Amino acid sequence: MKHDPANAIFDLKQFGEYGDVNPSITDSATYTFMQAKTMSATFHGETEGCFLYSRHWNPSNKYLADAISAMEGTEEGWVTSSGMGAITNTILHLCKSGDHIVSSMTTYGGTFAFLQNYLPKFNIHTTFVDIADLEAVKKAIQPNTRLIYTESMTNPLLQISDIPQLAEIANTHDIKLVVDNTFTPMIISPAKLGAHVVVYSLTKFVNGKNDCVAGAICGSRDFINSLIDVNDGTAMLLGPVLDPMRSSSILKNLHTLHIRMQQHSRNAAYLATKFKEAGIRVIYPGLAEHPGNSYMKKVMNPDFGFGGMLAIDLVTADKAGRFMELMEMHDVGYLAVSLGYFKTLFSNSGKSTSSEVPEEVQRKMGLSEGLIRYSVGLDHDIERTWKRIEHCLELMEIK
Ligand SMILES: *Cc1c(COP(=O)(O)O)cnc(C)c1O
Repeated sequence: MKHDPANAIFDLKQFGEYGDVNPSITDSATYTFMQAKTMSATFHGETEGCFLYSRHWNPSNKYLADAISAMEGTEEGWVTSSGMGAITNTILHLCKSGDHIVSSMTTYGGTFAFLQNYLPKFNIHTTFVDIADLEAVKKAIQPNTRLIYTESMTNPLLQISDIPQLAEIANTHDIKLVVDNTFTPMIISPAKLGAHVVVYSLTKFVNGKNDCVAGAICGSRDFINSLIDVNDGTAMLLGPVLDPMRSSSILKNLHTLHIRMQQHSRNAAYLATKFKEAGIRVIYPGLAEHPGNSYMKKVMNPDFGFGGMLAIDLVTADKAGRFMELMEMHDVGYLAVSLGYFKTLFSNSGKSTSSEVPEEVQRKMGLSEGLIRYSVGLDHDIERTWKRIEHCLELMEIK
């Protein structure tokens, strides 16, 4: 039977120590033992169900990690204090000095900056490729390559990664495929398609409330255990631990994710069609002309749509700026970075979330300076929202 991420979360039985249906928050940094030998065994990872210290595991974090890994269909998960914490710890754990990474040229700006500017300090170098060009991916692999890095749906151009093919390339070379699934939770299940490690910024759709920053790492039990090994686990030693109060609130929000994704997708698909009809260049994977459309249909979990992200191209940064100000004034949403919120958010990618990417690379990857990225909200009446957008287009004399 095909993996259904929503059913997998629904079927979890998680309750607190007093039978509380919403698991109680374990607001404690450390844990007491009745027997010294149990503490020693827990330290060495030999006891099930015992907690030692909350940088390693905390019960509230474990509930959330279990729910995220159920959604992904992986053996294990671990939650982090940010998406960047998940990404950087995963990469640092898989690589050592002298290693090499092949990465999609279009990634989240922070990821790009980490690969391009930060890792060379540790003598780890990255080749950036057009991830849709599988021949280029193969050619970029060197004897010291340790991993291929991509996003299921890349930021901000919404390219779709061919995860099964990339996994095959990775397996052939006995290296890891790491996939950031932040834009497409539930819609795409990268681990089920062959990815070895799935990373998330939970800050976005998964939490969906923009009230905190958090991340997650999903993979095999061996990988997660090695990541949090007390002696040499990167996450254990660098310590990007999530606060259990936050884990608890994110877990509650995770239980409505499937309904939210459906509404984000419905609204985004509606706006994409309207922009297209208005003669504006629009990027949305649900449109037939999107280069990843037919491939996405093959690999997606269809119940959740094509996602809440879309982009339009107003050619110049000036125009994009004026249009976004008008939209904010006319209650379309907020001029803000980030995504996955219940209100529509929009930003000019080249000048904001991708500004870490040098302008010449932006041009090379096809990022127009007039690109506006939308994270479409949960609007109840999206036709009304479109009328507001249309009014802004008229004020701009675009329509
Ligand atoms: C936001 C984002 C990140 C970084 O996550 P933080 O929670 O802000 O640290 C990584 N990848 C993608 C695709 C993102 O959108």
